[in-house]
Amino acid sequence: MRWFRTQVLAVLAAWTLTAACGQSLGIEAISEMSTLAAKLSPQARIYLPGSSGFSQTSQRWSALQAPQVNISVAVGTEDDVVETVKFASKYNLPFLAYNGVHGSVTTLGRMDYGIEIYLGQLSNVEIASDNRTATIGGGTMSKLVTDTLWEAGKQTVTGTCECVSYMGPALGGGHGWLQGHHGLIADQFVSMRVVLADGSLKTIDSKSDLWWAMKGAGHNFGIVTSITVKIYDLEHTNWAIETLMYTGDKVEAIYQAANDYLVKNGSQAVDVVNWSYWFRIPDQDKPVIAFYIIQEGVTAVDSKYTKPFHDIGPFSIEPVSGTYRDLAGWTGISLDSTPCQKAGLSNPRFPIYLETYNPMAQRQVYDFFQSITQAASPFANSLFMFEGYSTRGVKAVDDSSAAYAFRGDNLLIAPLLQYQPNGPDLDNLAAKYGNQIRTLLYQGSKREELHTYVNYAYGDESPKSWYGYEQWRQDKLKALKSKYDPNGRFSFYAPVA
Ligand SMILES: Cc1cc2nc3c(=O)[nH]c(=O)nc-3n(C[C@H](O)[C@H](O)[C@H](O)COP(=O)(O)OP(=O)(O)OC[C@H]3O[C@@H](n4cnc5c(N)ncnc54)[C@H](O)[C@@H]3O)c2cc1C
Repeated sequence: MRWFRTQVLAVLAAWTLTAACGQSLGIEAISEMSTLAAKLSPQARIYLPGSSGFSQTSQRWSALQAPQVNISVAVGTEDDVVETVKFASKYNLPFLAYNGVHGSVTTLGRMDYGIEIYLGQLSNVEIASDNRTATIGGGTMSKLVTDTLWEAGKQTVTGTCECVSYMGPALGGGHGWLQGHHGLIADQFVSMRVVLADGSLKTIDSKSDLWWAMKGAGHNFGIVTSITVKIYDLEHTNWAIETLMYTGDKVEAIYQAANDYLVKNGSQAVDVVNWSYWFRIPDQDKPVIAFYIIQEGVTAVDSKYTKPFHDIGPFSIEPVSGTYRDLAGWTGISLDSTPCQKAGLSNPRFPIYLETYNPMAQRQVYDFFQSITQAASPFANSLFMFEGYSTRGVKAVDDSSAAYAFRGDNLLIAPLLQYQPNGPDLDNLAAKYGNQIRTLLYQGSKREELHTYVNYAYGDESPKSWYGYEQWRQDKLKALKSKYDPNGRFSFYAPVA
């Protein structure tokens, strides 16, 4: 860390006055930074603004209300996390875990200076000798989990997208292809090592009162340095998908069929997933609908699922077969797919959970979506996502066992308004349009509660919409927050209160 001491001293004078984001860490903290550096492991790196390391570790997926940091600490060990959190607390500096950097909730923008704790080096997957659990580093990406387990003939529930971390989705509950079998990602937790707000490193499991909160509201309570989770034998290696492309005049028929033949009031078959996207393609004057029917353990999707959709009249049908590891590529969320790239764009989503599709509401939002994504619109490249996993495994888990609050829901709907940042007026327009879309769906649901997935949240929803409307849930979260994080150190990502 001697190199770092020299570097710090060199930039100290100028940097004290002008930090990257206009806010300084403070003279005392900066001058003590070399003390922190001396306590870190040899693998740790501290990156200052202007360095390539800083850019590489700090660049985010969404530019909208992105957190601002003055320094990036790329931790090499769990003790490095401890030391960095203690240092930040001592100097009363904001800090935030950076992992897959796909977090986009606008509350992150409340962090306007401070320390980034970059977890990328805490990446590993180790299968236990009894083959029933795996221990996953806190900075491991989903793809590495899937690939490592696959090589050993194992699998577990992870997020579907290859470029998000394992922990980021997991701490908010976590949806994935295998949730129909085993429940949410958080339902797989066995124990975890977590650095709390006071800098203490604890191993916790179901005996801890904090356990409940880590399964759905975990971003609010600590930094997970590693986690042990349940893993399962690979039963089916083969999967199949049918991609059906439609023009917008088919909206009502498609989503009525989805209700009737797939979602079936929450009893969707455990081996089937329905997904769809709305987006624009060059040779169509309105957004197209890409409807995916995915099935496990087969080489072609069963015609009892596909025929009703063929009858609606898609303009193309593409059946493909492969393995579980092809799913991300087929659905456009593999490492090299567009949604995975960090392209400096603003990417707000306006999610809503639903029990069933309302075909009339789908028509209303389609028409609205098409009106705001016309060629000249800044939102022309937007993507409307409809995720319909099997929920059998999710519903099989006791509803009160986790902070994740929405096991009764069956569909995760999320318009993603993608645009080149161009100032607050455009941001406000995106928020207005996104909320208009969500309101149409909410009204169409005839529900009295707005349920949103915290990990897709825009940021203007209430804690009830993220963590459940039941008073006991809110009370429990607040009580745990004041016990474990009384000074609100972990309050940038969808704060519980
Ligand atoms: C393209 C794309 C695909 C997605 N696919 C899925 C999906 O299939 N399933 C799903 O459930 N969600 C999915 N999401 C949503 C995803 O869960 C959130 O975006 C999540 O915040 C991403 O985590 P991250 O580590 O990649 O991002 P980050 O921005 O690095 O992390 C988000 C927040 O999580 C917290 N955090 C991260 N790691 C840790 C840790 N080790 N300990 C404590 N806190 C931590 C921090 O508060 C951080 O601010 C997707 C998002 C995108 C953009």
